[in-house]
Amino acid sequence: MIEQRLQLLREVLRERNLDAMIVSQPENRRYLSGFTGSAGVLVVSQERALLITDFRYFEQVKHQAPACELVEITSSTRDALAAQIAALGVQRVGFESHVISVETFEQWKQVIDGVEWVATSDLVEDLRQVKDASEIETITEAVRIADEAMAHIMEWIRPGMTEREIAWELEVSMRTRGAEALSFTTIVASGPNAAMPHAVTSDRVVQVGDPLVIDMGALYQGYCSDLTRSFCVGEASDEYKAVWDVVLKAQLAAEGQIRAGMSGVEADAIARDIIYAAGYEGKFGHGLGHGVGLAIHEQPRASQLFTGAIPAGSILTIEPGIYLPGWGGVRIEDMAVVWEDGCQVLTQVPKVPVIPGK
Ligand code: ZN
Ligand code: ZN
Repeated sequence: MIEQRLQLLREVLRERNLDAMIVSQPENRRYLSGFTGSAGVLVVSQERALLITDFRYFEQVKHQAPACELVEITSSTRDALAAQIAALGVQRVGFESHVISVETFEQWKQVIDGVEWVATSDLVEDLRQVKDASEIETITEAVRIADEAMAHIMEWIRPGMTEREIAWELEVSMRTRGAEALSFTTIVASGPNAAMPHAVTSDRVVQVGDPLVIDMGALYQGYCSDLTRSFCVGEASDEYKAVWDVVLKAQLAAEGQIRAGMSGVEADAIARDIIYAAGYEGKFGHGLGHGVGLAIHEQPRASQLFTGAIPAGSILTIEPGIYLPGWGGVRIEDMAVVWEDGCQVLTQVPKVPVIPGK
């Protein structure tokens, strides 16, 4: 698996006429080596893959990254990197310009002589878009953990609880179901807070009839899940149900029509057109979806800005929303694998506009 990924990167390096690539972005480093540690630099050339890291990770690299040669840092990362680049005798060296700070790059330039630096962006991220079978299996498990926690919380919520209490119960539920961490800080937004797509969970007390937006995800073996459900507690107004129905209709249309090869713009438009046609133009102020994998937000995107094609085997969230300031909001989010013949929706937890709350 790792060997295959390294070969794919090597093909990209050949196409770009790069002799070597320095990979320092943590998820990219993990993807190409298997190494989960928090520090280290991976250098990939046509013949070799060197993982340069410090004492804390020597043993870990031997276990996790058998496809890479361990380079032990004795003084500093940049000195070790300089020695390895010199030993490889490479000319054109790519680096991740979207990751490396200006300061780090200046330091590298000072100690590493005789190379032509080539700024690259998203080379490994582009490879990560297409998931292999084992990645899909792991992500499916991350989705299952989030699904079960959400199903539990939909039974468990009572009026009088605070957003924070609900978020904590979700966190505990995901952990006890096998999550190694959260894939991001859980959002529990109630009442008017639900009008903010990325609301911060507060001490607000949830009342009967309040709209809730809950957005959460589990991290499992390094892979993320992402799930949103929206519902009212105890009872829902007709206006709420009407907004909720539009969001669900938009989401089901997108899940029914998105397929590989479609551009991100086309995919986004499926849901956006339905929401705008229902009179909510300007109330769906974010993209329809994003890739999910080792990172919670990655390529591809279903958005008005992503003109590229959504590749087969990518994982995409489908999460239309309507947000009405002062009133609240509705977002419904599933995760799907996108194939040539359509979406394979992974998320299983039911979608309902009202939960009992008793
Ligand atoms: Zn989400
Ligand atoms: Zn999302």
